[in-house]
Amino acid sequence: MHLRCAYCQLDLNLHHYQASAEVVTSICDLCQSRSLKPAAFQNQQVAYFAAARKWLFLGLPTQLQSASQPVLQLTRQQRKACTSLLNSFDALPAAWQTTGRRQQFYQEVIRWQDQPDFELTGNVPVDLKRLGCDTTGLFDKNTLDYTTRARVREYYQHQCQYCGRYGDSVDHKNPVALSNDNRWENLTLSCRECNRLKGDMPYQLFVDWNQELQPLLRQLVASEQALQRLDEQQRQLQNQLAAQRHLTGEVTNPQLQAIRQQIKVVQGLRDGEDSDYQKLIQLRHDYIISKFQIWQLQQVAD
Ligand SMILES: [Zn+2]
Ligand SMILES: [Zn+2]
Repeated sequence: MHLRCAYCQLDLNLHHYQASAEVVTSICDLCQSRSLKPAAFQNQQVAYFAAARKWLFLGLPTQLQSASQPVLQLTRQQRKACTSLLNSFDALPAAWQTTGRRQQFYQEVIRWQDQPDFELTGNVPVDLKRLGCDTTGLFDKNTLDYTTRARVREYYQHQCQYCGRYGDSVDHKNPVALSNDNRWENLTLSCRECNRLKGDMPYQLFVDWNQELQPLLRQLVASEQALQRLDEQQRQLQNQLAAQRHLTGEVTNPQLQAIRQQIKVVQGLRDGEDSDYQKLIQLRHDYIISKFQIWQLQQVAD
């Protein structure tokens, strides 16, 4: 749940407005640490939110149409970048987010907000450092933290870098067992299938072997998309069926029969598509595994 702060205008997670369990404030905790008082601000959105939950709203009653309240002057771009940084900060490991660190971070952000002397890059480690935050031990340890994973997924727009299908597995190009290397250059995004298939294969070889299968990979991507579309069509038809049944109040009626017929047709298409899809997966799997086995034999022979 994101709510807009009446002063800084950032859309921040609910907990930034929670003074206690059932009390929410008109401005975010960041702005409160500027010594601004929630009681001096209107915030219709938070007020309605509080009313819906029967929580207490700390702020000016919305009926009071006061002329205008002060607002932090940030460009849309700066607001976006700052919101994203705050959301990323929230996602950092909980153990790292001590009260002291959070307070220090808030002070740095406030200083930046009042006088943005550089553009935020969207790269969390870089931005934190430039703001002067002490990030010792946060990004250079060997386990990948949540933020890094999220960044890799976003950077590659959820696309597997080996086959082009949907992917959300953050993958080490050189297996971490060999290199312990968590630098950005050693990270890429893959789908679960490529992740499993690659296993301990050398990165470059796995890339090359996939390159040799370009036409097959294009078919894989097309097939995955077709399956998604068919699933979506089926969902829509199921919804139509449910709505019609509700409207007519009967189970047998020509219109309902027609929708059921369509669902059957789509299901048939889906089964056919899926069977083609599985065959392609199997083909690629066998090809790459055989390449790998031959390569291993050559290694032994050398
Ligand atoms: Zn605020
Ligand atoms: Zn893949």
